[in-house]
Amino acid sequence: MPSPGVHERLARTLVTWFESRDRDVPGRSESDPYRIWIAEVMAQQTRIATVRERYTEFLGRFPDVHALAEAELDAVLKAWEGMGYYARARNLHRAARVLVEEHEGLLPDDPAALRSLPGIGPYTAGAIASIAFDRAEPAVDGNVRRVLSRLFDLERPSAAALESESRRLLATDGVRPGTLNQALMDFGGSVCTPRRPDCDACPLAADCLAFKHDTQASRPGRSKSVALPHHPIAVAVLRKEGRVLIGKRPEHGLLGGLWEFPGGKIEAGEAPRQAAARELQEEMCIEATIGRSIAVIPHAFSHFRITLHAFEAAWVSGEPCGRAVTEWRWVRPEELSAYAFPAANRDILAGISGASDRP
Ligand code: SF4
Repeated sequence: MPSPGVHERLARTLVTWFESRDRDVPGRSESDPYRIWIAEVMAQQTRIATVRERYTEFLGRFPDVHALAEAELDAVLKAWEGMGYYARARNLHRAARVLVEEHEGLLPDDPAALRSLPGIGPYTAGAIASIAFDRAEPAVDGNVRRVLSRLFDLERPSAAALESESRRLLATDGVRPGTLNQALMDFGGSVCTPRRPDCDACPLAADCLAFKHDTQASRPGRSKSVALPHHPIAVAVLRKEGRVLIGKRPEHGLLGGLWEFPGGKIEAGEAPRQAAARELQEEMCIEATIGRSIAVIPHAFSHFRITLHAFEAAWVSGEPCGRAVTEWRWVRPEELSAYAFPAANRDILAGISGASDRP
């Protein structure tokens, strides 16, 4: 059991620690809820160094919610390229439209109303409500979960238990909720880190129950890791009269709205080159000569892994068909940079040279 007054002491120490730091974190010095929202969404699943580079650029293109709502989805996906987890970009775009249509272009300050927007879950709603609107709302991401689990020595805490501890910290008089939430996030990212928490230098050590019980290494307890399924994929950079064929994925679903090269899963016992020819012929109505290998690219998604085998290919006959994409385009290689592709395709794009139709 934590000792009396411990939540207040922890909250004040955390805020003092946080305010003494001078870290360049996107969104940190913002007061505009729109900019805070963008920073929070970008920071999920993307390294902070990348967010630093891309945040200002994204806001330059979409400086306010109206600009984002009025943009074509293609332009938003293009601006998001390289950051992965494109559902975030699609949801930002959808949510911007809802905000313009139903909230006069303003983010609501109520966490429940925030959670009703596309892509905003409990964490993002809590972060926006606390940072932008000073509401005493928990914002429990992976870092905060770890810090709270250790401070209160919770082995496998439920979301409700974490929220309860967080609310007790947030109840501290005179402590701004947004500052405290950011302090917790930052603390988990820099001092109370997953593998090597710096307990010797930790300003919270005197009140940390995991430190007292020597259980830091096992807090929070890990769930058993499961090997991710693996799918080998063959794709073709199919050339015809100096142009390359690309297809647009349906808007909903994995990598929705992004462009890709034609191809598909390699079947058991099938060679990648054979699979590229078969997919073009059976799924896309195209006869082609498959040429040299351009790249072999391993890539991990959250629930599975792929290995992408990319080949040059020369069109022989047929017009693209198939329902797996919503639109086909033959484009010049120099025009490819105008289209948003999934991250795994970057090595293929780098390997595409000139406009030769010979594989
Ligand atoms: Fe984390 Fe160690 Fe500090 Fe506890 S004492 S909060 S485990 S760094």
